[in-house]
Amino acid sequence: MFVDIAKIHLKAGNSGDGAVSFHREKYVAAGGPDGGDGGRGGNIVFVADKNLSTLADFRYKRKYAAHPGENGRGGRCSGKSADDLIIRVPEGTVIKETETGRIIADITDTPVVIAKGGNGGWGNTHFATATRQVPRFAKRGAEGEELDVTLELKLLADVGLIGFPNVGKSTLISVVSEAKPKIANYHFTTLTPVLGVVRLGEGSSFVMADIPGLIEGAGEGVGLGHEFLRHVDRCRLLLHVIDVSGSEGRDPIEDFNKINHELSVYSKDLGARPQIIVGNKCDLCDEERIEEIRKYFEDKGYTFFPIMAAIAEGTRELINYVAATLQKLPPIKRFEAEPKPKEDYLKPKERSFNIRVCEGVYIVENAPWLLNIMNDIDPDDYESLQYFERVLRSSGIIEALEKSGIKEGDTVSVYDVEFDYIK
Ligand code: GDP
Ligand code: MG
Repeated sequence: MFVDIAKIHLKAGNSGDGAVSFHREKYVAAGGPDGGDGGRGGNIVFVADKNLSTLADFRYKRKYAAHPGENGRGGRCSGKSADDLIIRVPEGTVIKETETGRIIADITDTPVVIAKGGNGGWGNTHFATATRQVPRFAKRGAEGEELDVTLELKLLADVGLIGFPNVGKSTLISVVSEAKPKIANYHFTTLTPVLGVVRLGEGSSFVMADIPGLIEGAGEGVGLGHEFLRHVDRCRLLLHVIDVSGSEGRDPIEDFNKINHELSVYSKDLGARPQIIVGNKCDLCDEERIEEIRKYFEDKGYTFFPIMAAIAEGTRELINYVAATLQKLPPIKRFEAEPKPKEDYLKPKERSFNIRVCEGVYIVENAPWLLNIMNDIDPDDYESLQYFERVLRSSGIIEALEKSGIKEGDTVSVYDVEFDYIK
C-alpha cells in the first residue's frame, strides 16, 4: 500500500548526569574536584534515502527513541555519549510539528536533527576554576527533546501531470520517460504517484510526476482526491492533460475548469502555478474542434499542445517546450523551517519562583522557565555565567534571596545546580 503521510512520536536521549566527586588519595586530606561530565543523549536525525518511495515503514512503528548518555564518574571520567538514531525517509518528506502544523524541516540533501539529545551534565570539575566557587556544583543531565511529528511525502518533481482519469496522463509519462505506470481504460489505474525522468540529451533532463486522477467532488470524499495533490505541490510547472475528443462524453473545457477549481481549493499557490495545456487523443477528434479548443486556451493566455500520447505524436515538441519553459522558472520549491514561537519563559510575568530555606540551603523552586535557560548555559564560559547571573538578578531571584536573609558563602540550590552565594 502506498503511504504518504504518517504521524510518529520522537524522544531524543536524555543525557547522563555530571558527577560530583573529589579526588581521594592517601595522606591528602581534601583533593580537588574530579567529577566527570555526563554523556550526551542521542539525537534523532532524519536522512533522505533515494531508495525509499513511501512512508509505509511508519505505519506500524510509531515511537522512536534515541538512547540516553551515560553518567559521568569520578576520576574525571566522562560518560559515553549515545549514538544518534537515524531515521530514513523518502526524499521530499516534510516534517511538521503535529500539534501546531509548523514545518520543522524538508528532508532533501542534508540530514537534519529533529529531536536534540540532552546535553551532558557537567561534572563538578568545571565549576572549580571557572567560577571559583565550591565545586559542589554538578549538573544533572538534561532531558532529550520529545515531540509528535507528522511526516508528509511531497515528491520532488519539476513537472506534474494533472487531469481527469483516463485522459492519457500515464500514457504520456510512459512515452516521454522510462516510467512504466499502469495504463488501462478505466478510472484510477494510477493509485500511487509515479516519477519519470525525461531526458533531452546532452545531460539535460527533468522529472515528471504522474499522480492519481483528481475527480470532481474529491473534497467530499468521492474517489481519490486532494491528498494526492500534495505531490504536485512542489512542481514548478503543471501539464494539464485534457481529452479533446470528449471520448467519455465529457466536456474537456468543463473538466479543465473543475480541476483548476480543485487546485485553488487545495492551495491558492497551487492554483496559480504555471500550466501548459495538453490536448490528448487528437486522433479521435476532428481538426475543427481541436482548433476551437486551442483558441479557447490561447485566448486565456495558455500555451496549447495537441498530441496523441498513445503513438507519441506531438510529444517531442511538447517536451522541448516544457524544458525551455522550466529554464525560466524558479527551482523546485523547498519548504523552509518555520520559526518556533517565542518561548513563554521570556515573558517577565511568567518568571515566577519560590524560595524555601532548608537546613541552611536556599532552594529556588517552582521556576520551570529557569530550566530552559540553565540548559543553555555553559559553566566553562564566563559570558554564559554572567548571563545566568543577569537572569537571576532581572527575575528578582537575587533580591528575594537577600530578603530571605542569605549571607556570603551560603549555598543556593536551583534545581540540580548548587552554588555558593557571593555578593
Ligand atoms: P490516465 O488515467 O490519465 O492516466 O489515462 P491512461 O494513460 O491510463 O489512458 C487511458 C486510456 O486512454 C488508455 O486506454 C489509453 O490507451 C488511452 N489513450 C491514451 N492516449 C491516447 C491517444 O492519444 N489516443 C487514444 N485514442 N487513446 C489514448
Ligand atoms: Mg493514470
